[in-house]
Amino acid sequence: MQADSTIFSLIAKEKERQLKGVELIASENFVSQQVMDAMGSVLTNKYAEGLPAKRYYGGCEVVDEVENLAIDRLKELFGATWANVQPHSGAQANAAVMLACLNPGDNILGFDLSHGGHLTHGSTVNFSGKLYKPHFYGVEKESGLIDFNKIVDTARKVKPKMIICGASAYSRDWDYKTLRETADEIGAILLADISHPAGLIANKHLNDPLEYCHIITSTTHKTLRGPRGGIIMMGKNFDNPFGLTTPKGTIKKMSALLDSAVFPGTQGGPLEHVIAAKAVAFGEALQPEYKAYTQQVISNAQALAKAMVAKGYEIISKGTDNHLMLIDLRNKNVTGKEAEAVLGEVDITVNKNMVPFDTQSPFVTSGLRLGTAAVTTRGLTENHMDQIANWIDGAILAKDDNNELNKIRTEVNELMSSFPLFK
Ligand code: PLP
Repeated sequence: MQADSTIFSLIAKEKERQLKGVELIASENFVSQQVMDAMGSVLTNKYAEGLPAKRYYGGCEVVDEVENLAIDRLKELFGATWANVQPHSGAQANAAVMLACLNPGDNILGFDLSHGGHLTHGSTVNFSGKLYKPHFYGVEKESGLIDFNKIVDTARKVKPKMIICGASAYSRDWDYKTLRETADEIGAILLADISHPAGLIANKHLNDPLEYCHIITSTTHKTLRGPRGGIIMMGKNFDNPFGLTTPKGTIKKMSALLDSAVFPGTQGGPLEHVIAAKAVAFGEALQPEYKAYTQQVISNAQALAKAMVAKGYEIISKGTDNHLMLIDLRNKNVTGKEAEAVLGEVDITVNKNMVPFDTQSPFVTSGLRLGTAAVTTRGLTENHMDQIANWIDGAILAKDDNNELNKIRTEVNELMSSFPLFK
């Protein structure tokens, strides 16, 4: 067969882009070669609808072992009592949980997308806001912090069947205990979507949702540093305290409902090559080196936040407890869209982001979201964060000065070329 030089030369080009640039997109990371190898393996050839030992296809003995290892390692990593590693993505994981626990039209309560929440937590452009009746909580205008007492008040008022916590752009920790008390009081299911800080939670750098939340979902490709994908876990074995039923009316264990909401509820065959890569990544995350990595991610985020503040940038909530920060650019007279574009010109990749109470549209925005998971994997430490803040500020100030932008890009490329992609 003729080699597809068109696609492979584009892949080589993308590798070069990743190598030369500073990657600050908070939801991205670099996987190891062995995670990559597992993904690019013969397991992609295998159909395996069902669960280990309960498949609808023959020849699943080997993939059963792979999937069982992924489940066991994930449970060990988080101290979970049950896990499903099949969701193709974070959005799929959330869709399956909602399918298992809710009926169309049920009230749900999530973190407002425009304050840092995620689409799948009730946004009206997403299935979660179309099928269910969404209500939202947000951050306080002055502090940029979530006031958990206000969530309690709203929950008492709207009586959601599900409370969702977790975010895409919130730099502070969560009070899962208070949310669980409220969930118990009103008979709601508490879901924590830990897609962003999962790796930091696994290493106990942040509060542990598995102690309090009924169900936990996550992506596997952000701080967890695995392949793109999703997972669902349960912290404690709840024997269906909510009386959730199957379509035939039988009351089942919540774990069984969640399994069948993934397949056949929302997906077909699981991606066993990706599940193998998840197993490799969970194995890596159980090593002591990963603990050091997650600590460095937080130290780098705090150093970057401090360096940005020193340059006169405003950070929502004034700092960070995790791997990311949301910068409010309104005092700098530049939009998120303009800043993203000019930083792209100097090979610093970021994403524009709405800030709470933003007056710009989601396509323009007044903010930037910065994260340190990827640069930390490349090997950068606190010492580099001042340099990165200088480049960001320099590029934004010199947005119409091509000579200055070229100079910054050369410096960025020189530094990053000396840090290999993750081995
Ligand atoms: N949940 C949260 C909190 C996220 O930040 C994201 C992705 O950014 C998702 C879910 C969706 O993940 P995916 O893109 O894998 O569907």
